[in-house]
Amino acid sequence: MTAETTIHELDEDTVARIAAGEVVERPASAVKELVENSLDADASRIEVTIEAGGTDLIRVADDGYGMTEADLRAAVRQHTTSKIDGLEDLESGVATLGFRGEALHTIGSVSRLTIRSRPRADSSTAGSEASDVGTELVYEGGDVVSVEPAGCPEGTVVEVADLFYNTPARRKFLKTTATEFAHVNRVVTRYALANPEVAVSLTHDGREVFATTGQGDLQGAVLSVYGRDVASSMIPVEADADELPPGPLESVSGLVSHPETNRSSREYLSTYVNGRAVTSDAIREGIMGAYGTQLGGDRYPFVTLFLAVPGDAVDVNVHPRKREVRFDDDDAVRRQVDAAVEAALLEHGLLRSRAPRG
Ligand code: ADP
Ligand code: MG
Repeated sequence: MTAETTIHELDEDTVARIAAGEVVERPASAVKELVENSLDADASRIEVTIEAGGTDLIRVADDGYGMTEADLRAAVRQHTTSKIDGLEDLESGVATLGFRGEALHTIGSVSRLTIRSRPRADSSTAGSEASDVGTELVYEGGDVVSVEPAGCPEGTVVEVADLFYNTPARRKFLKTTATEFAHVNRVVTRYALANPEVAVSLTHDGREVFATTGQGDLQGAVLSVYGRDVASSMIPVEADADELPPGPLESVSGLVSHPETNRSSREYLSTYVNGRAVTSDAIREGIMGAYGTQLGGDRYPFVTLFLAVPGDAVDVNVHPRKREVRFDDDDAVRRQVDAAVEAALLEHGLLRSRAPRG
């Protein structure tokens, strides 16, 4: 006779909800995935609308290449993606933001998900069946509830309602509406600044938080997101490898604020490596080193800085939730960022001259 065991297999539903918790921690993580999908779909307009910090509703509408009915059905299945074929594509370096093929599936397993989509008339995925109607797919707690033809413009609208309605523990863990909204705002801001050629807007509880024009210049995007006072205090940073101390960075460019325009939060440091939003101690220390004593203790400037680096010099942790990066040579990166930002501040007479440091 075999002994009784208390070890048993989890049912599929439970497994999916546990996995969802890994990818979707809070409304902002769902927003991140949806905005990345819109960018990957070549959108020139992305409208993010949320209610109650994103806990009641997240809607991301884009004018990207859209999906056919077959695409839609496939998109919500687990590990389905149109973006890579296999490991070789990963090793050769992927250009798209997503590729795991799990975001829609996992978001849909912990919410009521509605996707309306219509392929662009010029899109190759539309094939010969370019049509003037789209498709609406409703997905609830991991099951396809309905798939119907629907009138909708070209592009895609994804609505995530009642996030975590079927995972009460996770729902309880959410912070106040204000905190969840702040996280969403941070995510959308980061993408808006990194993609000034895309018109990105954020609306919370019926109030427009910001809207960029999509005109393509970083200064304009900063103006839309942070307002006139901050935008008018920004100065350009532009340094190529030959103007930088030795190190892996090929260029450092972007905008940094006058020292007097500062806040008590790191939130306004937006830094990117090869176009991806990242955080890095080396980059932050480089920036803060350049400002030196011009900033009071615990004060941070507004910074939107893009670093270009050869792919093999950086360890971008590909876990969807982590943005922290490490460089093979963090010290060199710190010195390079420091030098680039310092040169810009000096050029604008914003630093008291100081002795060179080692
Ligand atoms: P991944 O982005 O990793 O491929 P997702 O679950 O986020 O996985 O999306 C699955 C697939 O659905 C994508 O590969 C893409 O083909 C399609 N898709 C998702 N969102 C959009 C969108 N906004 N526009 C067009 N296609 C989309
Ligand atoms: Mg994705």
